Amino acid sequence: MSKVTPMMQQYLEIKARYPDALLLYRMGDFYELFMEDAVTAAQILEIALTSRDKNAENPIPMCGVPYHAADSYIARLIAAGHKVAICDQVEDPKKAKGLVRREVTRVVTPGLVVESRNLSSKEPNYLAAVAEARGTYGLAYLDISTADFQVVEVAGQEALLDELYRVAPRELLVPKGREASWLETFRVQRDPAVTWLEESAFDRKRCEERLVEHFRIHSLESFGLQDMGPGVQAAGAILDYIRQNHLGDCAHLRKITPYAPGDFMHLDEATVRNLELLSSPSTLGRKGSLLHVLDATLTPMGGRRLQRWLRYPLVRLEPIRRRQEAVAELVDKGFLRASLREHLGKILDVERIMGRVSVGTANPRDLTALARSLEILPRMREALAQAESPFFQEMMSQWDPLEDAVGKITETLVDDPPLSLANGGVIRRGVHPDLDRYTRLALDAKGWMADYEVQERERTGISSLKVRYNKVFGYFIEVSKANLALVPDHYVRKQTLVNAERFITDELKTFETQVLEADEKRIQLEEQIFVELRRWVAQEAPRILAMADRVAELDCAASLAEIAASHDYCRPELEESGVIEIRDGRHPVIERFLKDGAFVPNDVVLDQQENQILIITGPNMAGKSTILRQVALIVLMAQMGGFVPASRARIGLVDRIFTRVGASDDLTRGRSTFMVEMQETAHILHQATPRSLVILDEIGRGTSTFDGMSLAWAVAEYLHDYQDQGVKTLFATHYHELTELAEKLPRAKNYNVAVKEFEDDILFFHRLLPGGTNRSYGIHVAQLAGLPQEVILRAREILARLESGNHRPPEPPASAGSRKRSRKKEKAGFQMSLFQPSLEWLRDEIVALDLDRMTPLAALQTLYALKEQIKAGPPAK
Ligand code: ADP
Ligand code: MG
Repeated sequence: MSKVTPMMQQYLEIKARYPDALLLYRMGDFYELFMEDAVTAAQILEIALTSRDKNAENPIPMCGVPYHAADSYIARLIAAGHKVAICDQVEDPKKAKGLVRREVTRVVTPGLVVESRNLSSKEPNYLAAVAEARGTYGLAYLDISTADFQVVEVAGQEALLDELYRVAPRELLVPKGREASWLETFRVQRDPAVTWLEESAFDRKRCEERLVEHFRIHSLESFGLQDMGPGVQAAGAILDYIRQNHLGDCAHLRKITPYAPGDFMHLDEATVRNLELLSSPSTLGRKGSLLHVLDATLTPMGGRRLQRWLRYPLVRLEPIRRRQEAVAELVDKGFLRASLREHLGKILDVERIMGRVSVGTANPRDLTALARSLEILPRMREALAQAESPFFQEMMSQWDPLEDAVGKITETLVDDPPLSLANGGVIRRGVHPDLDRYTRLALDAKGWMADYEVQERERTGISSLKVRYNKVFGYFIEVSKANLALVPDHYVRKQTLVNAERFITDELKTFETQVLEADEKRIQLEEQIFVELRRWVAQEAPRILAMADRVAELDCAASLAEIAASHDYCRPELEESGVIEIRDGRHPVIERFLKDGAFVPNDVVLDQQENQILIITGPNMAGKSTILRQVALIVLMAQMGGFVPASRARIGLVDRIFTRVGASDDLTRGRSTFMVEMQETAHILHQATPRSLVILDEIGRGTSTFDGMSLAWAVAEYLHDYQDQGVKTLFATHYHELTELAEKLPRAKNYNVAVKEFEDDILFFHRLLPGGTNRSYGIHVAQLAGLPQEVILRAREILARLESGNHRPPEPPASAGSRKRSRKKEKAGFQMSLFQPSLEWLRDEIVALDLDRMTPLAALQTLYALKEQIKAGPPAK
């Protein structure tokens, strides 16, 4: 290898400390990357890969980005899942002896992003850590851009996975050497960045100390963390990671909120997906999701909070009522709602600005944006004065108008500061006398000269004295010959003209050097004042973030009210009864996609007596899935504290909602195997409680008809008898055979989604009616789907034959070809007969056999006979 230059030596030393990050090494106006880092970055950033020491034997690959545009390049590297270590020059290159000292000043990782470029405004960006102790998992997660820091402990890997899916972290911290199957599962589906930390980062004692120290608390009890084990370890590991990555003291992180899984409605990953709460597979995004139709929030923090409300519906009556009352008040008081929303519309992302303020990357415009947003608070408080519900009352009692913060920022910064500090022009006049002087010197030398001229005229009594500047002599004072006698002693002669003499003074000399330095000093001082201001604002983070939190809550309540008022929702009655009664319920998302009034509302009653399991049959496209989901969504919306799309609703609170969709209906994952379907069903059967709501949509579809039907049947029975109480279940199926279940199970009822045959056509009414169906209308649907008429007619023919009890393969149609083809059909025909459940004659015959008295041969002969008979169809009665 060729010899290593001192600079490369420095590079390699620093790089060795950050092996898993791309190292951006500052050289002049560029950040350079070398070796493998350069190859990786050049590809992601689509920039040229060059090399250092081009002529050397082994040139070093290299690429670079201009430092002033580094942000956007870093953003792209992060988006591609990398970590980026930023290595800056930490001494003035002019003053450095030899090689300039360089240090990593910050490491940006996918989970530790504060710059807005990398964040979408209505989504949280979580860094999570997981620790485990004897089967209990601690999960802590932090959005450093908003200071949202929470921790929970759950029992078992399944529960951990459910929680992880809900939190959806961008980056995950796990102890080294703890390979775990949950992690594999999670990585396969979500692919977060994973960072392995030394086991010591999770050391319980160290973690506890770190928490106590960071939050400046006496003990873990201050935050209710004293009973947590792995939760404390996970939270501590996060704090450690922040420190390692040079994010400063993060003064904005002033609290961590623990919760227990039972504090919220349990929603597992499949349910969030099946109910399309956050995204919809048909649009591959937010559009078409429940969140999309419910989100009328006007601030980014409100948007993020609404998402939290949706992912974590409440389960206890009191807190839900509190929110609901607030929403109801805003539905009633349209004027109050409108004025609150007008104010909300002017508030920017206070939380994320505070994130940048704390980490020290907030720019001047961030602070003016902050002031403009906080300025709204007193006006909002005035509007709120009309509000009565406890939700608002409590908020008002804690209202902090933050006028001091607004005052300090607006008094310090000019009205429209530039984005960067590079050219000054950020700080107002009057803030600092030195700065004013520098500024005047730099920007307003003429003005200063005029002032100085006036001053010197008065002092000397020479009314014609002039202060001037030219390139050759710089600044000077000119006095006409006639007035030379009045020139004071300290004037130093510089030049003699025909009619005048030119002088300079110490003051003028100082002025001259000052002018030269002024620009530099002005910019430095502006930066200093700005950084001081930013630090002051950072100190106020707890107060400012507390208000951001209130704004978020207000925004959510106002958003739910706005949606309720504009879409004719009703206020649900909440109770602990175990009854769910919905009148004229609608599907909140589908109704929006249809013409006004086109959606057919339906009634659904579930209770723990006769209506515990509703078996809903009906042909494809009738609206079964829609009804199922709409019940689940209405319950969920009610438990968020919102109104619901119905004319009346009584909601007995549920602790969990489970939904499973039969394999072939679940198109979203592309890996919808029967195995997955059964695993998910097993999950329900293990985790449901008598207070849960279970939605089963066509389960058993992913296997052969009889297997599927039998499994569906057994699952329904199990849920019916679950813990002697049963679980409220909506069960949609196109196996009309399952209607028999309702006759056998006392707490099950049949319903069907009405359709009507009309000539050879089928009309969909989307109406839920009591009673079962006995047909599946598959051929009609096939016709609707555009199968050739020929196929439809032939299918009808075969169906008629099967229904008449003739299970022999139908003759091939007159035009049909070869024998081979007809044999194939024979087989198909036989399989089709399985769809007919009327094999009772066979059962009867077998039951009637007296095997004890038969010789083996007789038994064999009987078996032969039965086989022939099966082929021929049931004996005529
Ligand atoms: P199924 O599950 O019975 O096959 P879906 O619930 O998927 O049927 O409904 C099929 C389509 O019918 C939906 O996409 C929707 O467009 C329409 N639909 C369903 N329910 C209603 C309703 N209550 N009012 C109006 N249209 C409906
Ligand atoms: Mg369906």
